[in-house]
Amino acid sequence: RRASTKWGTGLGRVGKSALTLQFVTGTFMEKYDSTIHRIHRGLLPQRDRGGLVASFQDIKPMRDQIMRMKRYEKVPVILVGNKVDLESEQEVSSNEGRALAEEWGCPFMETSAKSKTTGGRILCRNREADELC
Ligand code: GDP
Repeated sequence: RRASTKWGTGLGRVGKSALTLQFVTGTFMEKYDSTIHRIHRGLLPQRDRGGLVASFQDIKPMRDQIMRMKRYEKVPVILVGNKVDLESEQEVSSNEGRALAEEWGCPFMETSAKSKTTGGRILCRNREADELC
């Protein structure tokens, strides 16, 4: 979401482990990571920045694939834009996330595993998502 809001799915380094750890143990571990390190230092090359945005693009085909595979099952989906604390790096807007969640009919939230926020919002819901989540 915000600048470096890494939109994630199975994609690496978006914060899936960190969010889980925060949820389960209430802690955040800032492990060294070269990409994240460069983001924090504002030195991220354009090529890499494109890569971050691509993670948002990539979730669409990934979701399509999951839905095809799970044709006969209900699949709970929540769209999460993590790393909102890295606000100055914003590349994917909240509106883009909200629009995609609307399209998918799933809940949407923006989070930071680091600053322990969920933004306090679930911006989009439908009955199916309510049942499933
Ligand atoms: P995963 O591959 O999706 O499980 O990603 P990780 O949980 O391993 O996180 C990748 C990197 O991003 C790690 O260095 C984390 O410390 C960092 N990270 C994860 N969530 C956040 C966040 O909300 N804010 C910031 N600033 N860094 C985060």
